[in-house]
Amino acid sequence: MTEGRIVKISGPLVVAEGMAGAKMYDVVRVGHKRLIGEIIELRGDRASIQVYEETSGLGPGEPVTSTGQPLSVELGPGLIRSIFDGIQRPLDAIMTMSGDYVARGIEIPGLDHSKKWRFVPKAKVGDRVVAGDVLGTVQESEIVEHRVMVPPGVPAGVLKEIAPAEATVDDVIAKIECDGRLVEVTMLQRWPVRLARPYREKLAPVAPMVTGQRVIDTFFPIAKGGTACIPGPFGSGKTVIQHQLSKWSDAEIIVFIGCGERGNEMTDVLIEFPELTDPTTGKPLMERTVLVANTSNMPVAAREASIYTGITIAEYYRDMGYTVALMADSTSRWAEALREISGRLEEMPGEEGYPAYLGSRASEFYERAGRVICLGGDGREGSLSAVGAVSPPGGDLSEPVTQATLRIVKVFWGLDDRLAARKHFPAINWLISYSLYAERLADYLKENIGRDFPDLREEAMSILQQEAELLEIVRLVGIDALSPKQRMTLETAKSLREDFLYQSAFHEIDTYCSMKKQYRLLRVILLFHHTADKALEAGAPLDAILELPVRQAIARARFIPEDRLDDFGDIEARIKAEMPR
Ligand code: ADP
Repeated sequence: MTEGRIVKISGPLVVAEGMAGAKMYDVVRVGHKRLIGEIIELRGDRASIQVYEETSGLGPGEPVTSTGQPLSVELGPGLIRSIFDGIQRPLDAIMTMSGDYVARGIEIPGLDHSKKWRFVPKAKVGDRVVAGDVLGTVQESEIVEHRVMVPPGVPAGVLKEIAPAEATVDDVIAKIECDGRLVEVTMLQRWPVRLARPYREKLAPVAPMVTGQRVIDTFFPIAKGGTACIPGPFGSGKTVIQHQLSKWSDAEIIVFIGCGERGNEMTDVLIEFPELTDPTTGKPLMERTVLVANTSNMPVAAREASIYTGITIAEYYRDMGYTVALMADSTSRWAEALREISGRLEEMPGEEGYPAYLGSRASEFYERAGRVICLGGDGREGSLSAVGAVSPPGGDLSEPVTQATLRIVKVFWGLDDRLAARKHFPAINWLISYSLYAERLADYLKENIGRDFPDLREEAMSILQQEAELLEIVRLVGIDALSPKQRMTLETAKSLREDFLYQSAFHEIDTYCSMKKQYRLLRVILLFHHTADKALEAGAPLDAILELPVRQAIARARFIPEDRLDDFGDIEARIKAEMPR
């Protein structure tokens, strides 16, 4: 074991000499208090260490010992429902041990090593198994079945022993004979957080991750295994959106990473998230959620680590064959941590003081999202979708963190506080948002929802864009300058905004909208538009069209329950019947 001495302390950064035997990214214990840190720069025997705990009171000359291990997380049953800090210490456990404030130097394993789980074998003695194969299952929470896998790195072999058991994560649940040697397998895997977990093959995303939010699914969809970015100016509805995504996305597992800065930002997550209900099961959402949260008294370095801790846990569930949705709020705080550490390392600063490697670090993170064929012989598929919130200061999207993120992710949901001020929710600005998956997902929509869905989407988008131009004309020369057809376009755009894009998170029915219903609703709005256009051409007066009673039915259509989608057919029939010819 390498033991050195502290020569310099600069906030979360400690420099130690005499560290010649240590490696980059080794975890070290710093000072008499044995604070937890990680080597992030090594020059000769001089190591720069980012420390995950408050460094005040630390002095030069105190010892630094290397553990010889990279920063790793424990993976196994018990992750679900947990709330961890940035280096996977369970928050409730450290709080009980040390009171409300997290005491320093506390070493607590991520998982409970004394809890017994009922292990149910799926494989049997004599089976040939490879890394990634599912050996058995454990009911981890009321909703989640934990699939216990042969850990990556174990060579192929023959299963010699496996039996039902009441086992802790340290107990051997199976023995595999590999090349004449017996390998013991437990339910625990340790994995270095900065290393992506392996899979057999990466696949192109082909299916949407349905969120039940119309503006997202219809206009700016994210694929299962995709990446998205959402800026969150204060009060723009960012929290509500993230809760909606967590509750309604058709993902089986949710990993939420809160790298908050101000203390209250984080406590919000810690209080609100455990109170959310899973609408599909009626159980608490935590039954399929893992939370990683930094509280205010944890130094920046823990924030830097938290996104890796979170995504490693997310990958682990992906490896089981689950669809996983990861949300990181906010990656700007992570980038600020990177900037602070880089500054203390006296690296050459890039734009606005962020290190030049900001972009490459961010892309390493988002590249861990994807749809994959998992390790193992059964060819199961898993996916990990990643949504990162950014908090651009003053809402300025040209700032480095937002720009670096937009170069990587495929979807941008542009939250706009002006829309929120007008009470248009979700406040996603349709004129600046985009999804690079839309085209790829068009085939899926055609085959599964409606053949003309992609065309309808395109037409609706074009009407919304025309609205912006027409409103500019109205502003300059008044509404009288517009033809009846142009005024009809404005009316349809208004209907698209108010009856389709607007969606209340708090209305029992409106809060979730299936893809089928999104399609029917859009079709009805555009059917009215087309029939009205024809009537106008035939000489019908615009005012008469706008007063048709069926317009009220269209305005209420978003409240049609999911089991009564036939009602849309009635509205379509009424449009045709009522329209003057
Ligand atoms: P932020 O986290 O960006 O500060 P919130 O998510 O807390 O903002 O949203 C602020 C307020 O906006 C909420 O309290 C709520 O009243 C309203 N709001 C946001 N999204 C919606 C929505 N989809 N439907 C209805 N109201 C919403």
